[in-house]
Amino acid sequence: MKAIGLLGGTFDPIHYGHLRIALEVCQALDLASVRFIPCAHPPHREPANASFMQRVKMLELAIETEPTFDIDDREQNRPGPSYTFDTMVEIRAELGKNVSLCLIVGSDAFAEFDTWHRWSEILDLVNIIIVHRPGGDLLEQDYMEKLLKRHVTYACSDLNTHACGKIFSLNVTSLDISATLIRSLISHRDTARYLLPDSVLETILEQKLYSE
Ligand code: ATP
Repeated sequence: MKAIGLLGGTFDPIHYGHLRIALEVCQALDLASVRFIPCAHPPHREPANASFMQRVKMLELAIETEPTFDIDDREQNRPGPSYTFDTMVEIRAELGKNVSLCLIVGSDAFAEFDTWHRWSEILDLVNIIIVHRPGGDLLEQDYMEKLLKRHVTYACSDLNTHACGKIFSLNVTSLDISATLIRSLISHRDTARYLLPDSVLETILEQKLYSE
């Protein structure tokens, strides 16, 4: 069975930075699919501006033409902070121990990996694919060096033969787009067009999301 990609995020809103990394990782690693996993209660930041259901709706609009993408909305059912570790435990239990799971993480997010809940156990559950994000360089930290030394692979074939435990870095098209930038443009009544799908922007404007 082909590996499955997992992309967690706040998606407040989803934008072309997210969609492009999902597509490029999917193609480069020949994944079966990429699951977008919206975070219900972000542990490390303020709550999202849009509601969980509004963010899921935007995700649905954004991925409707891409059959290899789907949405996993399980985090809405778990009370308390939505820890990646807990989500990975659940998905691993559902899919069994043999399928390769590839958690896609931007380099900005991975730079703070040691602040994630039970971070040192996450690689027992999944592989991690680091995609470079403009401005998100990995810091030269002791733990990071050790982690990479232990887990890094340069052969993407390893991601099919290992269900978990590998870290692989992929160069993707650099798109300096963030949800923060989009929210700021909209709140200042500037256009966010071409940073995210038109259908998503339309629903944001219709529902007056991020307008203040
Ligand atoms: P915000 O600006 O609200 O913090 P964001 O644009 O960073 O949001 P998230 O939903 O927090 O979006 O990101 C989810 C995941 O996608 C993270 O791993 C993040 O690093 C990655 N990501 C987001 N945008 C990009 C981008 N433009 N290039 C590469 N990775 C990205």
